Amino acid sequence: MFLQLDSVTAGYRRLDIVHDLNFHVERGEIVSIIGANGAGKTTTLRAIAGLINTRSGRIRLDGEEVQNQRPDQIVKNGMVHVAQDRALFGDLAVHENLTMGAFTQPKSTIRESLEQVFELFPILRERRMQRANTMSGGQQQMLAIGRALMARPTCLTLDEPSIGLAPNLVAQVLEAIKRIRDAGVTVLIVEQNAAQALAISDRAYVMESGSIVLEGTGQELNDSAEVRKAYLGM
Ligand code: ATP
Repeated sequence: MFLQLDSVTAGYRRLDIVHDLNFHVERGEIVSIIGANGAGKTTTLRAIAGLINTRSGRIRLDGEEVQNQRPDQIVKNGMVHVAQDRALFGDLAVHENLTMGAFTQPKSTIRESLEQVFELFPILRERRMQRANTMSGGQQQMLAIGRALMARPTCLTLDEPSIGLAPNLVAQVLEAIKRIRDAGVTVLIVEQNAAQALAISDRAYVMESGSIVLEGTGQELNDSAEVRKAYLGM
C-alpha cells in the first residue's frame, strides 16, 4: 500500500470531523473519495497534506509515517496537494507560478519539469507570460495541477478538481489526471462530481459524516443502486 490511513481522527478545535478513518491507495492507482457536501472529504486531504494535525491514527506514505509532519516536509516526501481554491499566486505569471512549485527541487531539473507540464497542458505554454488571475477557471485548475507536478510528486492529492469547470474542461482535466497516473504518479481525488470521478478511478470510497461507508472499484460504485440514488442523482 502506497498511501495508507489507519484509524485517523482529525478535525478543527474541539470538533472531530473525520473519525477512525481507514483507507488506502496502491501505488499507481487513481482512487476517489466521493460524498456529499460536508462529509469530511476536504478535511481528510488537509490532514494528509499536513495542513491540519491528526488527533490519532497513522498516515503512511510508502511505509513511512507522515502524520503531523510540516506541509513542506510532506511535499519533500513526495506528496503534493492541490487545494480546492487552487491557491495560485494571482499577480504572478503562469511560468512564475510553475517555478514556485519546484521549491523542493534542484534548479537543474526545473526546465525538464516545465517541459513535462507544458506537454500535459499546452495552454500553459501558450499563456506562460499571462498573470494567473486573468486565466479562466479551467486554465487556473490546469495551472494548479501543473504547479503541483513541478515538485515531482510520487503521490498527488486533488480536492474537487472539476469544481466550477465547464463540462468540456472537466473532461480535459480528468483526462490529464489519467495521463499523470499513467506516468507513474499515484492519485487521490475527492469529488462531489461523483460520476466523472468514478469514470477514471481504479477504486473509490464513499464518505458519509466523517466515515467511509462503502468501497469498490469505480465501476462497482457506479453500478451500485445506493450510490446511484444518493450521489449520481438517478
Ligand atoms: P465540501 O465539499 O463542502 O468541501 P467536504 O466533504 O469536503 O465538503 P469538509 O470541508 O471536510 O467537507 O467539512 C466537513 C465539516 O467540517 C463541515 O461540517 C465543515 O463545516 C467543518 N469545517 C470545515 N472547515 C472548518 C474549520 N476551519 N473550522 C471548523 N469547522 C470546519
